[in-house]
Amino acid sequence: MALIVKKFGGSSMATVQRIGLVADRVAQSTSQGDQVVVVVSAMQGETDRLLKLASQVCTMPRDREIDVLLATGEQVAIALLALALREKGIEARSFLGHQVKILTDNVHGSARIVTIDAAPVHECLQRGEVVVVAGFQGVDQDGNITTLGRGGSDLSAVAMAAAVGADACEIYSDVDGIYTTDPGIYSKARKIDKISCEEMLELASLGAKVLQARSVEFALKHKVAICCKSTFSEGSGSWVLPVISGLEGEAMAGLEGAVVTGVACDRNTARLSVLRIPNRPGTAAALFRPLAEDAINVDVIIQTAPQDGHCELSFTVPKASAERSVQLLLAHQERLGFAEVRVADNVAKVSIVGAGMRSQPGVALQAFEALGQAGIDIQLISTSEIKISVVVDDRLAEAAVRVLHDSFQLDRV
Ligand code: ASP
Ligand code: MG
Repeated sequence: MALIVKKFGGSSMATVQRIGLVADRVAQSTSQGDQVVVVVSAMQGETDRLLKLASQVCTMPRDREIDVLLATGEQVAIALLALALREKGIEARSFLGHQVKILTDNVHGSARIVTIDAAPVHECLQRGEVVVVAGFQGVDQDGNITTLGRGGSDLSAVAMAAAVGADACEIYSDVDGIYTTDPGIYSKARKIDKISCEEMLELASLGAKVLQARSVEFALKHKVAICCKSTFSEGSGSWVLPVISGLEGEAMAGLEGAVVTGVACDRNTARLSVLRIPNRPGTAAALFRPLAEDAINVDVIIQTAPQDGHCELSFTVPKASAERSVQLLLAHQERLGFAEVRVADNVAKVSIVGAGMRSQPGVALQAFEALGQAGIDIQLISTSEIKISVVVDDRLAEAAVRVLHDSFQLDRV
């Protein structure tokens, strides 16, 4: 008998028929004697629908009332699933965030979980009931409803697993696991059996959409093992594992022993270049300060070596922030003294990720050679211990993914 948290996303809850399938999945587990806590998202499209309604009456993006509105999506979902389970003869009880209770800070729209009171969950489980918890929502210490940010039900599930001491956190969606790259981009993409949290964190932040990045961060910190599975097909799924003591050596080298574990492609990116910046101490800070104050996420920063007292800085921002970034920089142009800002939004960031890179020299060279031989021009490069990202022309991004996937033979175990 195991205690399992199962999370079902919007696509698994899209219709009443699908909610029936979800109930079947839960029934499979309880019939084996498992104790089950289910965390669900709103029915597919519901959160978007609610946001659209809000945008028709106000311009406030993050606020208490928006969270009151958005939290209704998950309330509908938990009630329908609990009813469907009861219909199958399984006792089930639904809980909203404040009933569990999932205590968060008061940052509406992207609240952080502080604690979860697992006692009501354990009481239900002891009575042999299935617990159905609303994902994505919590409550602050003054009793206000909060939400955790888009895709936040993944985080709810991982946090719930940590709080109740679950044996595993299974995250169900319409894909049967984590792939070496997006199978929509490359048919040779292979399902990964196990991947470390830190690699998954890089992949999730770099455009792989299977898991919300914050949930992986939480899993790493609180040592929760996640299994990504499909609601609609049988299969063992993919395990995302925190580094467990005794496993360190293996995790350092990549859980499957490969140097590179996956290739991610982020199309939601734009490149900015700031030309002829007077090269004085403090200019880089002065340049990035207005962007940081506007919460714009800057990535892949490259500065050229100074020449006749000037340098050039290029970096990437999310596409939606490109125009705003240019405005902010131009507003400070006189003080900063640079000549010009150029923006290119026809770029994409392609990255290879793998814990094995740490101990293997020559990985960057191999990647650059493969791209060079394929005639793919690299505009920017950035590296971390377990990641190499290149910014390329958007039209070449998919080719770059395939070239790198082939070069590191990711279709083979
Ligand atoms: N319903 C929320 C959203 O669409 C949370 C989630 O799906 O995880 O973002
Ligand atoms: Mg989701």
